[in-house]
Amino acid sequence: MSVGGAIVRGILRFHPIVVWSSPVSSSTPPAITELQHTISGAVVLPDDSGYDDAREAWNLTVDQRPTAVVTPADVAEVRTVIAAAAASGLGVTVQPNGHGANGSLDGVVLVRPTAFDELVIDTDARTARVGAGVNWGRVLTALDGTGLVALAGSNPEVNAVGYSIAGGHSMFSRAYGLASRSVTAVELVDASGELRRVTADADSELFWALRGGGGLFGVITAIEFTLYPADQLFGGGIIFPIGLGIDVVTAGFELGASDPALGIDVGLARFPDMPQLPEPLRGQTVASVSFLHIGDAASAAPIVERLRAIGTPLLDGLREFTIGDLAAVAAEPTDPMPTIDWGGTVDGFDRVTATELVGAFLAGVQAGLSRVSVRVLGGNIAANPGIDDAAIGAITAPALISSGVLAFTPEMAAGADAALQPLRDFAAAHPTSGMVPSFLGSGTGLADAFDDASLARLRAVKERVDPNGVIRSNRPLP
Ligand SMILES: Cc1cc2nc3c(=O)[nH]c(=O)nc-3n(C[C@H](O)[C@H](O)[C@H](O)COP(=O)(O)OP(=O)(O)OC[C@H]3O[C@@H](n4cnc5c(N)ncnc54)[C@H](O)[C@@H]3O)c2cc1C
Repeated sequence: MSVGGAIVRGILRFHPIVVWSSPVSSSTPPAITELQHTISGAVVLPDDSGYDDAREAWNLTVDQRPTAVVTPADVAEVRTVIAAAAASGLGVTVQPNGHGANGSLDGVVLVRPTAFDELVIDTDARTARVGAGVNWGRVLTALDGTGLVALAGSNPEVNAVGYSIAGGHSMFSRAYGLASRSVTAVELVDASGELRRVTADADSELFWALRGGGGLFGVITAIEFTLYPADQLFGGGIIFPIGLGIDVVTAGFELGASDPALGIDVGLARFPDMPQLPEPLRGQTVASVSFLHIGDAASAAPIVERLRAIGTPLLDGLREFTIGDLAAVAAEPTDPMPTIDWGGTVDGFDRVTATELVGAFLAGVQAGLSRVSVRVLGGNIAANPGIDDAAIGAITAPALISSGVLAFTPEMAAGADAALQPLRDFAAAHPTSGMVPSFLGSGTGLADAFDDASLARLRAVKERVDPNGVIRSNRPLP
């Protein structure tokens, strides 16, 4: 939930966006060219006119050049694509949108799962079945009026499958846990072309791996997950000038500590001085708190009072809303963006660490840092449902940091490391363990999220279901 999202969209419309590019040097194997005749879904090759559009990732700093971009129409066509790639010595990766794009995709066939668009909500069973092409926005709209919520992110364009297999931290997670741990079934086509329905009872070890280990194990066609009750919702974001930053951050952590079910995100952001931005935020450096309370306005009143007592806000968007409105309340950026990110977990939050965090953010801003958000963890995120339950186990770290540099030019990208370093230093000074893989930053892999024992277990599953390493994930195993 980022209060600056809508504003960032405005900035993007007026900035010249550079899409990173390098020369093409590929010759397409015959089995891949042949796909243009053997499957009905689109197959776009590097020499085709639509290749640049087809290969584009949501993250515009990633210059990915796959051997082909294919949109299989059904399971049979997924099988054909995997067989053609394997016969040609190529990999296969699935990328619904590219929010987590993280590499060149050289020698890889890129699958767009758009055709897998089923969405079934069972209100009696409190479950959802979601195809691999479905983004969260559609799920949230379908849940409106049911009294049920999914453990969704607040960005409507993030894909429900990509998010759910990589941890998935929702504003509902302190109440109901990380999304991976609520996945009850995964249907996938594995590297041998077999369609499997994986559950706790059908290949429990693969089920464990799929709940947090990401896209390493097959082309997923659909997942099923549990829905949770939440009749009324109150929340949104409130933004203050950075002069109140330490008070804002401290208040956010106090509120998180006082209610383990409250979804809460503290943000610090720098907005450029551009006429397109709303006057109160133009050229401002700001601090914000976004929260999600399961309940009505009356029961949220103490939270609202605490936040409004901080001082005079620049913007106050706190209100009652429905699950279908979650994305509008969060106002996260949906258009593609050039962003270089870093994420980590940190220990111990009080006024002293809040002061250090604001200091680290302001040092980063001098070098081009755009934003940092700190999500309070704890609650059911820290509850261990059993060691064999999911690769993503109990995360006991108190807080999750995610930060980013908007890199509109190669020069800004070159400076990203320096801009992110003060936050890395801050996290290093407050070490803890555990990471939500969906928040891993640019250039990272699973080794940045899992301990050695979990990595060995993930590797054993991978070697069993995909011994030749055909299926590639954005977060590879070391
Ligand atoms: C603006 C923004 C907001 C975000 N908000 C949140 C948030 O609130 N909480 C959170 O936890 N994370 C959040 N994320 C992170 C996001 O959940 C991860 O980047 C996630 O991997 C994105 O999934 P995607 O499918 O949209 O992205 P993609 O880059 O298209 O896919 C990511 C990876 O998922 C795997 N994958 C996806 N679909 C399949 C499939 N059908 N079969 C096999 N593998 C598959 C692949 O390995 C792929 O590389 C956010 C990211 C962005 C950019």
